[in-house]
Amino acid sequence: MEKKKFMCKTDVINRLGISSSKFDKLGLTIVKRYKNQYGYIYLYDEDDVNKLSNTHLIESLKKKEIKPKDYFSKFDNKYSNHLEALPLICNYIFNLNRYSKHSKCSKQHQEEIYYLKNKTIEFLYKNHYCTSVKEHIEEKYYSELECRCCYGCGCEECGYTGIYREEWIKEIKYYCFYFSTNNIIYCWHQPQQYVDFDVKLNTNISENLNPTEIKEIKMNKSKFKEAKELIKWFLSKEKYIK
Ligand SMILES: [Zn+2]
Repeated sequence: MEKKKFMCKTDVINRLGISSSKFDKLGLTIVKRYKNQYGYIYLYDEDDVNKLSNTHLIESLKKKEIKPKDYFSKFDNKYSNHLEALPLICNYIFNLNRYSKHSKCSKQHQEEIYYLKNKTIEFLYKNHYCTSVKEHIEEKYYSELECRCCYGCGCEECGYTGIYREEWIKEIKYYCFYFSTNNIIYCWHQPQQYVDFDVKLNTNISENLNPTEIKEIKMNKSKFKEAKELIKWFLSKEKYIK
């Protein structure tokens, strides 16, 4: 017979994807308990928990937790015109962009930040906040690699060259966008492959463009959420995102 599996409260809420405040609504029966130094630990039957997954009850408990609209109405109340939030949005993009390069930043979070940055850049460019665009080319060097089948001796796989990959240099083209909002000059690099709108380069820039030194703000995770929601709110007002 298979051994019964027990789950503690934390396991249950993680499995079902609900917040701990909703736990009591599940009506699970305690099947076991033990005492540790902090008090009683209650355990629940895994089969009971699995029976709950994908039920209407769980769906409704989850739904109430997603409140992006609450942020949106908060911003609606705070700003009489969404453009008032633009300086803050640029500051947030600057800081989120910094964070996206951090090893702690997850791939998913990074992609979300890039997406919001792309859309914000598009808005700024199309609405004449851009003071200049330059091209920047970065060369990425790839060294020669030996054929792994023959270790350089020459075989059919490599056409008897002994080389799997020849040495080559890949060019990555960037646009450097200079934006000015509220007397702050931002400079953002964007790989050209991600820019899907027409950009005109300024080839003869005479003015001296120095991006403003912006202080990195220490943002905790909860602040990130609000920052991203503000950017989304702004972009939705401008119909850049739905
Ligand atoms: Zn070979």
